[in-house]
Amino acid sequence: VTPRRVVIVGAGFGGLNAARALRGADVHVVIIDQHNYNLFQPLLYQVGSGMLDPGEIAHPVRSILRGQRNLEVRLGTVTGIDLAARMVTTDKGDVSYDSLIVAAGSVTNHFGNAALARSTNGLKTLDDAIRLRSSVLECFERADEEEDEAERRRLLTVVIAGGGPTGMEYAGALMELFTHVLPRDYPHLDFSAVRVVIVEGADRLLDSFHPQLAARAQRTLRARGVELVFGRRVVDASEAGVRLDDGTTLDAATVVWTAGVRAVSLGGSISDRRGRLDRVPVRPTLQLPGQDDVYVIGDLAEVASRSGEPLPMLAPVAIQQGRHAAKTILVQMSGAPAGPFRYLDKGTMATVGRNQAVVQVGPLRYSGFVGWLTWLFLHLLYIVTFRSKVMVLLNWGWNYLFYDRPIRLITSPRARGAEDPVTPQETSP
Ligand SMILES: Cc1cc2nc3c(=O)[nH]c(=O)nc-3n(C[C@H](O)[C@H](O)[C@H](O)COP(=O)(O)OP(=O)(O)OC[C@H]3O[C@@H](n4cnc5c(N)ncnc54)[C@H](O)[C@@H]3O)c2cc1C
Repeated sequence: VTPRRVVIVGAGFGGLNAARALRGADVHVVIIDQHNYNLFQPLLYQVGSGMLDPGEIAHPVRSILRGQRNLEVRLGTVTGIDLAARMVTTDKGDVSYDSLIVAAGSVTNHFGNAALARSTNGLKTLDDAIRLRSSVLECFERADEEEDEAERRRLLTVVIAGGGPTGMEYAGALMELFTHVLPRDYPHLDFSAVRVVIVEGADRLLDSFHPQLAARAQRTLRARGVELVFGRRVVDASEAGVRLDDGTTLDAATVVWTAGVRAVSLGGSISDRRGRLDRVPVRPTLQLPGQDDVYVIGDLAEVASRSGEPLPMLAPVAIQQGRHAAKTILVQMSGAPAGPFRYLDKGTMATVGRNQAVVQVGPLRYSGFVGWLTWLFLHLLYIVTFRSKVMVLLNWGWNYLFYDRPIRLITSPRARGAEDPVTPQETSP
């Protein structure tokens, strides 16, 4: 008999862990992703600030799953899912399934504002982070030569829309780059013009953390020079900068949008019902209502927690759900019914920068140096490959001791053929 065909859409935290949990099982697994790599999104901000190399947080799916004999990896974009025909449609052809795990994650949410989508930089994909790194560094190059003071100030201003963990972590990392690293590269530039501003709609940072931890993070950021604007939202952005909802404008060459994510649109092809942030509501077993063979997990799935609130869009949720979906498929094959998913909350944390992080694990809350060490240790633990763990640790150590960011590269891809801009004509053979 041909083994059961389990198709996994997405090789992120959820999909990858589902695939691993099916290792050695009597099933044939097909994992499909639009990229050939798995991305460790929690450290994207370090790529965006020149601390880590993209290769240290993104790993080829084929090499991570190498040796798993019951599995094939496919590079392709899933464009639709036909539940009646049990078929996944991709840009490279159709793939049939007996069981399906949809783990396609989320994308940046601009809340339908086209100007924000056009003129701000997200921090959600590897391309976003590389583009940000390049554009921030390029602004310093331009500022170094700029005679006009107002324009120089605009070039040296970064506005970050959204004061959640991503916005805060990026602000802290940028400020360190601007105060400790770049002044050595640009000895003639006046660094007093540099500004990093976080604009947050609520009256504090980190609304998913306890107010005391948020207050601690705010004090640290302010002491390090980050400006915090509360109770205001960025409603428009252009080349010149941003406009806030009270009409104030801020001149800024770099605008980073970290104000939200939403589930991918692919959810629309498996469910007419969409929950908060476009997530797909699923049963407590993670199965799609009315579809015993279809599981939706991670950022894409809306699953109620014990408090009744949907589980947050976090890596541990996706990881645990991936394992649960895989195990449940095997349980179903033995004829037993699917059991409910129970989330084991191991806590949340965010770093404010050097020597400072906030950590909350249930009723336990702490910050400062011990929090920072906890953050370092746990992030290292979750990085996918051993090589990357070593490389990341080396880079962190180097940065910590020497205040250096080795990956200060401006790498925006140019148009093909633009490598030799002075003599564009082809030479005859
Ligand atoms: C900047 C940032 C920092 C974060 N920091 C933390 C943190 O510190 N701690 C924490 O717990 N969580 C953090 N998160 C959240 C965490 O990364 C997500 O909750 C987690 O990645 C969700 O896992 P997932 O498997 O649902 O989706 P993902 O990991 O996003 O994986 C989805 C996969 O699906 C693929 N895909 C999507 N659409 C298609 C398609 N149509 N066809 C083919 N493939 C497709 C994507 O390429 C991707 O590989 C952070 C997120 C970001 C953006």
